[in-house]
Amino acid sequence: MITQHSETLFERACQYLPGGVNSPVRAFGAVGGCPRMIAKASGAYLTDVDGNQYLDYVGSWGPMLLGHNHPAVREAVVHAVENGLSFGAACEAEVHMAQLLCSMVPSIEMVRMVNSGTEAVMSALRLARGVTGREKIIKFAGCYHGHCDAMLVKAGSGLMTSGLPDSAGVPQGCAKDTLTAVYGDLASVQDLFAQNPGQIAAVILEPVAANMGVVVPTSDFLLGLRDICSKENAFLIFDEVITGFRLAPGGAQELFGVTPDLTCFGKVIGAGMPVGAYGGSREVMGQIAPSGPVYQAGTLSGNPVAMAAGIAQLEILRDHPDRYTKLDQMGEQLRSGLRALLEKYQIAGTVNGIGSLSCLFFTGQPVTDYESAQQSDTKQYAQFFHHMLHQEMYFAPSQFEAIFLSCAHTSTEIDYTICCAENFLSQLR
Ligand SMILES: *Cc1c(COP(=O)(O)O)cnc(C)c1O
Repeated sequence: MITQHSETLFERACQYLPGGVNSPVRAFGAVGGCPRMIAKASGAYLTDVDGNQYLDYVGSWGPMLLGHNHPAVREAVVHAVENGLSFGAACEAEVHMAQLLCSMVPSIEMVRMVNSGTEAVMSALRLARGVTGREKIIKFAGCYHGHCDAMLVKAGSGLMTSGLPDSAGVPQGCAKDTLTAVYGDLASVQDLFAQNPGQIAAVILEPVAANMGVVVPTSDFLLGLRDICSKENAFLIFDEVITGFRLAPGGAQELFGVTPDLTCFGKVIGAGMPVGAYGGSREVMGQIAPSGPVYQAGTLSGNPVAMAAGIAQLEILRDHPDRYTKLDQMGEQLRSGLRALLEKYQIAGTVNGIGSLSCLFFTGQPVTDYESAQQSDTKQYAQFFHHMLHQEMYFAPSQFEAIFLSCAHTSTEIDYTICCAENFLSQLR
């Protein structure tokens, strides 16, 4: 495989961009090697600057649920561009988008558009704090909620602790209000409430965790959190930045039948454009400026071009529930294929997943939370990654990310992927 142009370009990138990238995981730090510089993308495939074509299992980290460069999305964008790129004033597309979101997502009566998942989360947390008058937030170790200060905290030992910041530059004062619980463990949440009576504004989580690999909770866990939050008058916030519109038209909350107080979106909602949103009941969302006292603003929020892209993708998903059936089937095909290989070659591995989200962990133990995910052999994952890359398959350059399927993938491609995985796994024995 020739990668000369990627290498030259990445060298140049490293002179002008920290680490050569604009988002860390793209730098291949966890797997080594030179990141492929991508020139274009179509359907289920990426093409790099050397002309190598990869079957893509990242999908821009989730947004490209219909596949890359879907004609309906592209045409909607081109059409919108003809009328100007940004107005800095109210426009019809954002009303259309808001109505669409309220009709698709069970818990949402009103929504505010923002420009990223990070922004959605930090705004939702501010709203929860503003409404409850409390300052502390419970998150779960291993859940990622974007890069705002308060969320860059996890429990070092997997036990609940009040946080040490994960990143340099996060003030202690900010981290101390973030409490960390164990994913799937209701007792760890109850303990935090007991230790901080009347002080917890919200519990935030990924309703299916997809940033420590993929961890699917029981519905009892989600229902239990709903109960605790209702009893404690704290907000339950679902960060559906990955699960939203991916697991079902109404997200994980529809799939599991659990109603959060606030929901955050990103990724799929913009179909590849920078879009996020947060929403909830009319009463709660009414507390946002200018109708309420919780301030939040955005120069480019509700951007007409970005709205056009998102609306086009969401309407197709809403109108074609069969797409989800197909995604579920392909996801099952991939997971059962990988599980059969682990069994056949007696490899210590675990396959988790649901619908179009999957993960192959290189650990023989079940993965149910951050601590068990961390038992994975990341060196073996790196070998797997490079093996697949050389077969022109682009998996996430990290053990702790999902395998993302899109509607552009086919069952034939999944079969071929399993064959390529077999070449690798059969050598491990
Ligand atoms: C990606 C992600 C975010 C952050 O979204 P950005 O658009 O990258 O800011 C937040 N929460 C979850 C669950 C995510 O996967």
